[in-house]
Amino acid sequence: MTQTSIVTRFAPSPTGHLHIGNVRTALHNWLWARKHGGRFLLRIDDTDLERSREDYVDGIRADLDWLGLSWDAEARQSQRFDLYEKQFEALKAAGRVYACYETPEELDLRRKVLLGRGLPPVYERKDPDAPIPEGRVPHWRFKLDHDTPIEWVDLIRGPQHFDPKLLSDPVIRRADGSWLYMLPSAIDDIDMGVTHVVRGEDHVTNTATQIQMFAALGAPVPHFAHEALLTGSEGKLSKRLGSLGMADFRDRGIEPMAILSLLARLGTSQPIEPVTDVAPLVASIDFGHFGRAPARFDEEELAQLNAKILHQTEFAAVASRLPEGVDDAAWQAIRPNIATLADVGDWWAVVTGTIAAQIAAEDKAYLIDAATVAETLDWAGDPWPQLTEALKEKTGRKGKPLFLPLRQALTGQDHGPDMKALLPLIGKERAIARLRAAAG
Ligand code: GLU
Repeated sequence: MTQTSIVTRFAPSPTGHLHIGNVRTALHNWLWARKHGGRFLLRIDDTDLERSREDYVDGIRADLDWLGLSWDAEARQSQRFDLYEKQFEALKAAGRVYACYETPEELDLRRKVLLGRGLPPVYERKDPDAPIPEGRVPHWRFKLDHDTPIEWVDLIRGPQHFDPKLLSDPVIRRADGSWLYMLPSAIDDIDMGVTHVVRGEDHVTNTATQIQMFAALGAPVPHFAHEALLTGSEGKLSKRLGSLGMADFRDRGIEPMAILSLLARLGTSQPIEPVTDVAPLVASIDFGHFGRAPARFDEEELAQLNAKILHQTEFAAVASRLPEGVDDAAWQAIRPNIATLADVGDWWAVVTGTIAAQIAAEDKAYLIDAATVAETLDWAGDPWPQLTEALKEKTGRKGKPLFLPLRQALTGQDHGPDMKALLPLIGKERAIARLRAAAG
């Protein structure tokens, strides 16, 4: 282990299914930890007890499992309120947290007035000695240090600079005592020793204020990498794409490795390649390769990657998911022709089931010849070249007129797997019966 072992975390709020954007963030955190022999944590950000749901927590775990993104430890923010309370009190005592009494309507009006004057809508602190409006329960803000510029070198975006005077003191706790995301996240990142925070660039401003929270809590600031967001084909991550969960992709026959292959490199300068194992993705993750422009997620690209990955997948990796009877040879014969694993069933039915062949009248006699020749072949050898060589000699046919009627008679299709690989699977008896049936 290196001296400061790397710790990353994926921190979803269980208020919905993981979509492709969340999974991308999870993957990059996971890859980074794995590359450096570090730890990858799953932190369930369930401070919002109203909107968090247990079935979503289960769904998040199931999706990460399906994708193979194993986590080294899990924590739930809802079980950590004591720690937040303690740190909140410490920050209050240090003058870094203060009570506010404005209503949402008052804040909104003030924002509009500032915007109307062409001014940034930054929250204006009140005189701490001002009288407390009667009957109001406070909510709480973190007091930014206006004298310390906020700076960090983002692993993706490069040097970042914020003037704290241009930022609103963030609300960290509601009047009912519930927590907003900002402070618990910083407290947890400190407590869990998170060294790298990798998340979407919609969090950049949050990071600016959280950097001051780290300092106020006396902790070193972790590294940050803010990724450009994903867009759908038609612009921003569309509602449809945002609502598609991993179950939808799985039901459509998309393999986990297709999702990982695409998301690992999408928006980076590295080529997107179909890989059947995560090792090359782990080895190549480097935030220096990530672009600043939004990356376009294309479902068609995913489907193509999926097919290419299946074409390279070894039998052992899919054996348990294949139809009964499909062995290594059958898999090798069929896999170049599939887009999803479900397609194997269709081709296996072509091998073993009943087929209906459409045969042109002028080919019928030829197929009778074929059936006769088929009787004489060495079926334990390589029957297809024997069959076609013999027929070539016997009939003088070549090219398409030689091959196509055979394919049609033997499979009921004009296209499909290599006949050399397919014919031994169809086998002698079935093949002869099909040739005879087609000859009618
Ligand atoms: N729960 C936050 C979110 O889902 C976590 C953000 C973070 O990674 O800090 O946006």
